[in-house]
Amino acid sequence: MDKRIRDFFIATGREIKDGETTDIYFIRTVEILKKMGKLDTEVAMEITSGKLPFGWTWGILSGTLEAIRLLEGMDADLYLMDEGTLFKPVDELGRRMPIGYLIGKYGEFAIYETPLLGLLCQSSGISTYAAHLRYMAWDKTLLSFGARRMHPAITPMIDYAAYIGGFDGVSSVLSAKKLGLEPQGTMPHALIIIIGDQVEAWKAFDKYIDKKVKRIALIDTFYDEKIEALMAADALGDNLFGVRIDTPKSRRGNIGDIIREIRWELDLRGYKHVKILVSGGVNHENIMEMIEAGADGFGIGTSVSNAPTLDLALDIVEKEGSPIAKRGKIAGRKQVYRCPKCYRYLIKPYSEKKVKCDKCGAEMEALIKKVVEKGEIAIEIPSIEDTRNYVLQQLEKIRELGWGG
Ligand SMILES: [Zn+2]
Repeated sequence: MDKRIRDFFIATGREIKDGETTDIYFIRTVEILKKMGKLDTEVAMEITSGKLPFGWTWGILSGTLEAIRLLEGMDADLYLMDEGTLFKPVDELGRRMPIGYLIGKYGEFAIYETPLLGLLCQSSGISTYAAHLRYMAWDKTLLSFGARRMHPAITPMIDYAAYIGGFDGVSSVLSAKKLGLEPQGTMPHALIIIIGDQVEAWKAFDKYIDKKVKRIALIDTFYDEKIEALMAADALGDNLFGVRIDTPKSRRGNIGDIIREIRWELDLRGYKHVKILVSGGVNHENIMEMIEAGADGFGIGTSVSNAPTLDLALDIVEKEGSPIAKRGKIAGRKQVYRCPKCYRYLIKPYSEKKVKCDKCGAEMEALIKKVVEKGEIAIEIPSIEDTRNYVLQQLEKIRELGWGG
């Protein structure tokens, strides 16, 4: 077969690192400053959070490891919260929360504003969405099925962001490989339609696919979900791990009631071990209804892969060591402190150290850390599992504290 490779319509790593995806106004700014001899002006630029999607009160920062790679080798310092940090758009006093700082000669990194924000905003948007679903679905299975809705060039990034945000697995083979996981999935309608009979298709899956793969039968191809669920259970018996419904919109009178019926019928006939998975249109607005009806897990596509990007901004807050900012931003470098006990967030001038919680008196933790120093990576890069565990620990903490979404 002819497998010619042509370029896809994407930026290469080299083009990104060379700043070629930047906005033209930064190139012009550099041109002017160079002619005026001001390219070496020392600045501190602050990355701040804007409002979060859906009025949410907390988000999860991710994409910092790629931001570090972007700045590596540049004559600049980068400060950021840890990958996976739970942050709020504002602190307890309503002040916009800094996420990090870019410090050095303006000309060194002016053109990186565009890619730096892009790396952080999209990844954090996906991690934030994934973490909110995890917070709601808590002990249910969440799988990332959204590769097909986005450009394949960013599939691994999307799945990484969803996974560290608390998802259990991903369906994309390349994503799973990069995450060190086994890819997870069920079967497409195509398999059932081509074989021409659902029972035969489920049995073929059971016969030919490696035994370590869970047998999850897709049960909405030709007949009613309830009927096909029982057919699948009768056909595969103990081998059947679960059933998946992907009910089309035109048949979804009440998805909760469909799940309740399937559960009841399976239980009644001794198939209590069979799990119910739902895919197709699952999002933060309807997931609770399905959990309450008895769903055990979800394949989540578009809502997570196309999660709203976060509105982070980058602004100068210091010039030649003096505080200065545009209207609407507060000047000077700051540190964000979080109380480890009550998770209060307070913003303080950077010079202020050893901050005690104004509510419980505990010593607060400084969240913004130096991650790149003069172009050298200044931290231990955390493992993917450690980052995911960090996110889950923070979610556990805010559940204890009774935070909402
Ligand atoms: Zn406290």
